[in-house]
Amino acid sequence: LVPRLQPFTSTIFAEMTALAVQADAVNLGQGFPDTDGPDGMLAAARDAISAGANQYPPGPGLPELRAAIARRRTRFDTEFDPDSEVLVTVGATEAIAASLLALVEAGDEVVLFEPYYDSYAACVALAGATRRVVPLAEEASGRFGLDVDAFRAAITPRTKVVLVNTPHNPTGTVFSRAELTAVAEVCREHDLIAITDEVYEDLLFDDREHVPLGSLPGMAERTLTISSAGKSFNCTGWKIGWVCGPAGLVAAVRAAKQFLTFAGGTPFQSAVAYALREEDVWVEGLRASLADKRTRLSEGLAKAGFGVRAAEGTYFVCADVRPLGFTDGHEFCRALPGRIGVAAVPVQVFTDDPDRWRHLVRFAFCKRDEVLDEAITRLHRLA
Ligand code: PMP
Ligand code: GLN
Repeated sequence: LVPRLQPFTSTIFAEMTALAVQADAVNLGQGFPDTDGPDGMLAAARDAISAGANQYPPGPGLPELRAAIARRRTRFDTEFDPDSEVLVTVGATEAIAASLLALVEAGDEVVLFEPYYDSYAACVALAGATRRVVPLAEEASGRFGLDVDAFRAAITPRTKVVLVNTPHNPTGTVFSRAELTAVAEVCREHDLIAITDEVYEDLLFDDREHVPLGSLPGMAERTLTISSAGKSFNCTGWKIGWVCGPAGLVAAVRAAKQFLTFAGGTPFQSAVAYALREEDVWVEGLRASLADKRTRLSEGLAKAGFGVRAAEGTYFVCADVRPLGFTDGHEFCRALPGRIGVAAVPVQVFTDDPDRWRHLVRFAFCKRDEVLDEAITRLHRLA
């Protein structure tokens, strides 16, 4: 293995899911739902397979899917031409990889905010570029905010790209219009390209507003917006994602993407197109149900003795293990499945500064209520 990929031989999700399976633990580590997406979407995939949609789709994605993606983005006041400004990918994961491979190389710097989703650092390394990592700021309210001064201070003449994720995994923060407006200002001032990961764009609670960075003034021409069907429609295994942006940037991503996978998931692309057109009501129900699950797990964790942080969106809530007498989240998560039969993931593995984040672990609440209740019962045994 080449040296630049040596830090990336395993993922925390593989490690913790293996421990969970071994111990027959309740897996609140890896974020995936344990119920299916809308029936109409599942039927659309079966129908597409029966109708013979089983060969390669067009490289940029099925036209009906690109049209449905562009149409759905209009709710954020953003317009994309389905032919030149939308590219379908194999999950958001491929969109992230292809975007970075297309835009940065050795000598270039990419700003990430930590904790960051694990693939960001790995893909910056794949591209041969260097990451500059800016910590999110833990606020008294238990929310993790964007520290725009720290972002500004991280910019050098070599900075080319900033990668922003909102709603944010693993903290559950939804960045505000004010925070993103400040980020946008820095991007314009330093002529940066923004890549935004918005895979949780439908999963915001308590009437919060999703603000795509690309919808802010002067950002459309410099932003690649990435999302995916997995989280909005409970189909994480289908791996249908996409990237939208100005034609020049999207053409660059397409150049990289065509030699990663060329294309993928023909019947699933067709079913996701259906879901994007027809399943808004189902998504509303998912959002409401996840908000309740967030509250259910957060309250359970607090009663079990954790220091629970704010979860404004996503599948995740972070919790401080120190009130229970533990100091290291990774050690805590390694022991948890064997000790009480629950799996979680440590936040420090998503950072360059483990000391700062050592006390936090992430739990996923995208699970059936009885599963969450069983996990809470087991977590009480820690006290
Ligand atoms: N970005 C974030 C922040 C995620 O949480 C995930 C999924 N866990 C992805 C990207 C990957 O999305 P996909 O499964 O569509 O590749
Ligand atoms: N995105 C999921 C999470 O954060 C996991 C995806 C994966 O297993 N790579 O839990």
